Amino acid sequence: MSKSIVSMVSFEDPYTSLKKLIEECDGFAGLNPEDKILIKPNIVSWDFELPFPPFGVITTTTVIHALVRLLKENGFNHLTIGEGGLPKAHSQDPSVYQTIGYEDLAKQYGLELVDFNQGRFGQVDFGNFTLSIAQSVLDADKIINVPVLKTHNQAKVSLGIKNMKGVLSRKSKMFCHGLGEFDLLETFPRIIEKLPVALTIIDGVYTLEKGPGHTGKAFRKNLLIASRDPLACDLVGAEVLGYKGEEVPYLQDYAKRNRRSLSLDDLKIKGERLEEHRQFVDYDWEWTKENTGPIGFEKRGITGLAIRKYDNSLCTGCSVLFNPMLILMMSSFNGQPFPNIELVSGKSQSASEGFAKTILFGKCACDLNKDNPHIQQAIAVKGCPPDLKDFEELLRAEGIKVNYEEYVNYRQHIFDRYRPEDGFELNHWQVKEGTEEVNE
Ligand code: SF4
Repeated sequence: MSKSIVSMVSFEDPYTSLKKLIEECDGFAGLNPEDKILIKPNIVSWDFELPFPPFGVITTTTVIHALVRLLKENGFNHLTIGEGGLPKAHSQDPSVYQTIGYEDLAKQYGLELVDFNQGRFGQVDFGNFTLSIAQSVLDADKIINVPVLKTHNQAKVSLGIKNMKGVLSRKSKMFCHGLGEFDLLETFPRIIEKLPVALTIIDGVYTLEKGPGHTGKAFRKNLLIASRDPLACDLVGAEVLGYKGEEVPYLQDYAKRNRRSLSLDDLKIKGERLEEHRQFVDYDWEWTKENTGPIGFEKRGITGLAIRKYDNSLCTGCSVLFNPMLILMMSSFNGQPFPNIELVSGKSQSASEGFAKTILFGKCACDLNKDNPHIQQAIAVKGCPPDLKDFEELLRAEGIKVNYEEYVNYRQHIFDRYRPEDGFELNHWQVKEGTEEVNE
């Protein structure tokens, strides 16, 4: 059996680098000129209210732009870009697609833009479960998957296989954070098996520690990885982040289910040398041994508070709020112990005995614990996902003076730490004018 080819190219000029990357792995070989091609970036979330650093979180527009240009030059004219991120934007805001230059791309190249959240979904049977997949994804002849090179605090790495979770309806995304056989790591890796992914391009212009959201820490990485084989591409991406395939449970399961090897010896890696780019990027937030909160809380001397660590049942909506919630809790610390509070979240955490107050973070925790006899006083932060301003009000009503302004300051702080002089360029999410010549 011939070895799958994975190409690695260092990111310099976007167009030239991507052209080389695709040529090295013969990336367009599976495409026909008449194909309806869907490009699937990763735009997991955006925020129009507070500063949002996209580094290592969102696929760069500069890579998408170079890809569109190359596809057009090679005679592929039926192009759509589609994604289904968290529906956080308010109606009066400009669309995310406008903000990151996709509307310019659409005008310039005559491609279609689809927001999966606004469209129809079709049911796809996976044997023991059914998922709703965006109809525009099901209608595509071929998919080009363009994830970011990043870590994930539940899945360890988030690359091509993980990026396909974005094609699901909101309800199906939540379903994928189920329990037991419907655990996150058992469900999302199956999605790609039903889809015609012809090429994966991992955008490693930046990478992200403790991802997948903007509260992780980004680094400039300058690397592109591509393959026509999704598993091969993810195995190399994981290695670059410092994880062997065997160390990532969902890659291990995927390989087993598809009778594939996890060994890099069974791949042909072209271009950059893997050894020169392999660097460990941590995926997880460290918690106390007693599961009472992040290590940082212990170091600050915070007591009287037990925030249980998130598990895989916490879906992305609550997950991206978890770190902000921690910042809010920290903002109310005045040197005195908290009044014996526990916080539980997700679909599997039951409130423990012996706490004066129990914060139920999100609808799932509220539903699961509604009749829990251990709870003396519940602070139910309903909402799916909950709202941070409601969180502030509910806690203030209980005398816990969390301060939303501190969260706003924190957001400014994490945005300001990415400086242009250190290689963090926001114009990677813009379309530069006047540099494109398309041979139609
Ligand atoms: S409450 Fe949170 S964990 Fe539960 S379904 Fe909603 S977003 Fe997901």
